[in-house]
Amino acid sequence: MSRRSQGKRSWDVRASALARNTHNLIRSIVENLQVEPNPEKRFIALSVGDPTTFGNLNPPEQVIQAVRESVEWHTSRGYGSMVGHQEARQAVAEYSVHQGPVTADDVVLCSGCSHALELAITVLADPGQNILVPRPGFMIYKTVAEGLGIEIKYYDLLPNEQWKVDIEDLESQVDDDTAAIVVINPSNPCGSVYNTEHLMEILDVATRNCVPIIADEIYEHFVFSGHKFTAMSSLSKDVPILTCGGLTKRFLVPGWRMGWLIIHDRRNILGKEIRKGISNLASKILGPSTLIQRALPAILQSTPQSFFDDVVLFIENQAKLAFEEIRRVPGLRPIMPQGAMYMMIQIKMSLFPDFKNELEFVERMVSEQSVFCLPGECFCYPNYMRIVLTVPEDILREACQRIALFCQDHIVTRDKIKEIEEEVTLSNEACRMINM
Ligand SMILES: *Cc1c(COP(=O)(O)O)cnc(C)c1O
Repeated sequence: MSRRSQGKRSWDVRASALARNTHNLIRSIVENLQVEPNPEKRFIALSVGDPTTFGNLNPPEQVIQAVRESVEWHTSRGYGSMVGHQEARQAVAEYSVHQGPVTADDVVLCSGCSHALELAITVLADPGQNILVPRPGFMIYKTVAEGLGIEIKYYDLLPNEQWKVDIEDLESQVDDDTAAIVVINPSNPCGSVYNTEHLMEILDVATRNCVPIIADEIYEHFVFSGHKFTAMSSLSKDVPILTCGGLTKRFLVPGWRMGWLIIHDRRNILGKEIRKGISNLASKILGPSTLIQRALPAILQSTPQSFFDDVVLFIENQAKLAFEEIRRVPGLRPIMPQGAMYMMIQIKMSLFPDFKNELEFVERMVSEQSVFCLPGECFCYPNYMRIVLTVPEDILREACQRIALFCQDHIVTRDKIKEIEEEVTLSNEACRMINM
């Protein structure tokens, strides 16, 4: 008889600690909401950050054609290198010259930008260390980090200053265990676009404290007229920057899962160890889809500038439309974005005594008006909601009108409204001044 241990007498299969401690904040909040739409009104989801949802925004023919061709090649079927095919990395390097000097060796192809972010976070941080992320901000970093015991710490963005980083707060959050600072520019959910001067202020904090930056630039070039996108890495003289990007948003193909990590390390601070570490971590998935990798050079080289211009112009017009509609709604204060594809709207909760918090507010807006906006809680930022601007114009217009109706139905009293209107006019005045 073998002397192996007795084993278990009954089934007891548990999810690992990693699985139990990994959460997608948006998903867990949305799943817990009572979102039963009003059957009399067509449901409008202003919540989904996927530009393909309504079918009105599509990639250009050149991009579709590139994948058509790729599918025919026998070389698009096998495994690639763990960090991606050389030709595809070379194409990303050429596409990314605005980020500073980049060679194919600095590029790692990933399964979407989220995967790039995961590589960046996990190559830099050990359990017990922390990374700093913006609040409000997209929360994928938390999803990646927390299960591994990497702490998330927040630094504040300033809603009355076009969501600039509160530099003092950022600096005060840095400690000996800070492994990286995440900067999202242009921002999800805020739509802010930082100018060179502000990016330099952020870089200064990183320089002084010797902390690398993870630049989430999935919305690079996604900026409205009068604003300019500057890559964080193009300004850095010393701070190592891991820039995360991809096809997802700009090419309108989130489901294709093609992203990349670009290593900017002008002073060779990260050295070989970090590069090796990234390629070790990339080997966990044996590299992203080679079908898209093979199509990547054609996708990046043949998409006409007019395609990008048209998409951004459409979104900018949607932003203007939504801003004009919402600013007139008592109790709400929209903040005009400068890029990306979202708008944040402040809900003056004290004027809506029917609701305890913005979660209840958005919940009831679904059951009464069939319009669903993402509660600020999803971005660790209560008393706000986020709308997406990629929906077709007539739907966006209707949604705004229903939001206005909903607010009329629930705002405190008549007399109070007068007071509020004055306040709204004042704050719009302030917005206009900031925009100038
Ligand atoms: C959409 C988004 C991502 C994820 O992009 P994928 O390529 O779909 O993984 C990452 N960061 C931000 C800020 C986003 O909005």
